[in-house]
Amino acid sequence: MDSPSSSRGLSHSSPRGLFLFDTGQSPCCNDAGYFPRAALFNKVLSNFTIEPSDGIVQLLSRQGVKPTDLKAVILSHLHNDHAGGLEDLLDAAPDLSVYVSREHWKAFGEHPFFAGMEGATPNHWPKNFSPKIIDYEDRPVGPWKKSYPLTSDGKIVAVDTSGHVAGHLALLVFGENGTGEATTYVLPGDATYGIDVLDKEEPDGINDDPARALQSLRLIKEFARQTDVVVLPSHDTNTPRFLAEGVVYRPK
Ligand SMILES: [Zn+2]
Repeated sequence: MDSPSSSRGLSHSSPRGLFLFDTGQSPCCNDAGYFPRAALFNKVLSNFTIEPSDGIVQLLSRQGVKPTDLKAVILSHLHNDHAGGLEDLLDAAPDLSVYVSREHWKAFGEHPFFAGMEGATPNHWPKNFSPKIIDYEDRPVGPWKKSYPLTSDGKIVAVDTSGHVAGHLALLVFGENGTGEATTYVLPGDATYGIDVLDKEEPDGINDDPARALQSLRLIKEFARQTDVVVLPSHDTNTPRFLAEGVVYRPK
């Protein structure tokens, strides 16, 4: 949230199925009464206009994907511009698995009023919302001491990147680019809004814990020093190009 462009979900296919990282914002976000009354950032949140054709179900459809084709949705965090598409997705695929980290669920999921003040829209979460909870395991990956494999082949892995919010998670994808070359992607969600602020190690302005955010930025950079990675921040306007061209991030 509070970023130059609205985020969109990113989908990755693996032999284990098709996984969606975040859902983007709802096309209904400009409707009167969409946000909970407690929302502190209503004006900021209402600045975006999401056309109906840019809802997550429509975006997936243009890729030839139905919500029922998805194996799971992994949420970096519950801010409405990352989780606002859940309502439409789950209307279309009620049995879809949704993953949230335990720390974030404790901070937001168990405290919906607080979550609403912080930019989530718990009034649009499914009834009796009970996502699958990610508990990190003692499986080091890159500079992270713990991780959570979403697939048994370890190709899609969640790591903690708290700071923007408690329990924020990033996804590491050990996949292939469009021409079949092995390529590692980092999907940082809102751990960083863009490559420029990642380089400058600047936590974003609306931030629950700047010290942890800084640590998360440094872990992403350290990973990029260890391995060639394509970093795809949710709100960087260059992200589609980074993905299309497989631009490897070289930390400064
Ligand atoms: Zn956010």
